[in-house]
Amino acid sequence: MMVANHKHAFSQILDPARVLDDPSSLHDYGRDRTRVHEPAPSLVLFPKTTEEVVRIAEYCARERLPIVPSGGRTGYAGAAVAAHGEVVVSMGKMDRILGIDLESGCVEVEAGAILENVQHAVAETGMYLPLDFAARGSAQIGGCIATNAGGLKVIKYGMTRELVLGLEAVFGRGQVLRLNTSLHKNNSGYDLKQFLVGAEGTLGIVTRATMQIVPQPKRLNVGLIALSRLADTPPVLKEARLRSLDLTAAEFFTGACLEAVMAHLPQMRSPFPIRYPCYLLIEIDEGEHDGQLTAFLEHVSGIPGIEDATVATSPQSFRELWALRENISESIGTLGLVHKNDIAVPVSSMPAFVGALESLVRERYRGLDVLLFGHIGDGNVHVNVIDRTSKDAAGFETRVEELDTALCELIQSYNGSISAEHGIGLLKKRLLHLQRDPVQIELMKAIKHTFDPANIFNPGKIVDW
Ligand SMILES: Cc1cc2nc3c(=O)[nH]c(=O)nc-3n(C[C@H](O)[C@H](O)[C@H](O)COP(=O)(O)OP(=O)(O)OC[C@H]3O[C@@H](n4cnc5c(N)ncnc54)[C@H](O)[C@@H]3O)c2cc1C
Repeated sequence: MMVANHKHAFSQILDPARVLDDPSSLHDYGRDRTRVHEPAPSLVLFPKTTEEVVRIAEYCARERLPIVPSGGRTGYAGAAVAAHGEVVVSMGKMDRILGIDLESGCVEVEAGAILENVQHAVAETGMYLPLDFAARGSAQIGGCIATNAGGLKVIKYGMTRELVLGLEAVFGRGQVLRLNTSLHKNNSGYDLKQFLVGAEGTLGIVTRATMQIVPQPKRLNVGLIALSRLADTPPVLKEARLRSLDLTAAEFFTGACLEAVMAHLPQMRSPFPIRYPCYLLIEIDEGEHDGQLTAFLEHVSGIPGIEDATVATSPQSFRELWALRENISESIGTLGLVHKNDIAVPVSSMPAFVGALESLVRERYRGLDVLLFGHIGDGNVHVNVIDRTSKDAAGFETRVEELDTALCELIQSYNGSISAEHGIGLLKKRLLHLQRDPVQIELMKAIKHTFDPANIFNPGKIVDW
């Protein structure tokens, strides 16, 4: 059927003003943060209710029309890319915060609610939503659930998966799965909501969610430690754990990342007079023990490799130290052609893995730089491969594709993961079989088939069947 006919049909389901096909909307809503695939959806739809999502899914199942569920489009895996005439279903107009239940310790939202708005609403009640990362101003709760987002607080509170108490989703040919409870315990059979978490929109569209909230940290403080090598970070983390510090974040970045931030945002100040090879940012909740972080930094100052350290002394310096870490992703994007990998290895293997990775690139991929940063406390490194001089995007893609395969083999040898947080989407799909054995891939396909017999929800992402 022609796109015009589909447009007409969707205009019977939604207000026609919420059925878009102008080139600019198709371009903007047909992609995420990746730039590998050219966006080419046929329509962009903005439902306002679960009932409208149901009717869209019913129509798409009948017409075998593929859907790309779309959140804040901040993803880095190409999972929200619509490159083959799909219908983008944007959740941006289902963004209400439905209620905060302090007795049960949860917040209920529509899936399109922006993470930062939910954080603020929860904070106003004196509670805390412990899901946080730099894209908080655009990423939606539905997108966080579909990617099982991690971020800055995983070390203490876990991934999104651990925070989802319940959800509502449209799946199959338009059926609704209502699992939207605020129960903290529910062992009555399979936990169906967890199939939707991290499924990248391939099993259905999340329409509502109930997220766990927790008491606000009492008194956060942050410090930055300068180190001569990445290898010096695990001993610091070990000490923090042995001393029972209430660690709420442990992030690292290399000197090259700091340099990129300084070059991109010249108004920012470097905390140390000279540049060091590596930095470890740690945040703790000092609770009633003022000065705990300073005492800890004095304690670890004897560890070989620690060059310098600083602690935030005011709310302003707290924000400034965090800003160094949070602006890395954007700053790196200005350095040239960039290819991102988001990998995980056990924290204890991190130094050896990074050494092997740097040798691999130095020996086999001349002209490419590797900039590393990430959530070191969780063994999660963002591996950014950069060509600072070439303008040949296609040639760069070919090189990094080959590098990705070698990287994947290296990760396997360290018992790691090719995707710690960002997912598989389109970008990592070809590598999935190196990470998951045939038994697991067959099970994934069977789950996909059960949830989505018409194969309309984000087909072509993660696995084909
Ligand atoms: C500066 C920056 C920093 C980042 N830092 C982190 C980080 O620290 N940790 C981390 O995990 N990620 C991080 N990300 C990646 C990204 O922000 C997360 O993956 C986020 O959860 C994506 O949410 P979104 O709403 O933008 O989803 P989108 O990018 O729109 O979509 C992502 C996937 O979810 C699906 N989807 C979206 N909404 C729904 C829905 N309602 N139902 C079903 N499927 C849906 C899409 O189809 C797609 O497969 C970062 C991104 C940026 C730009």
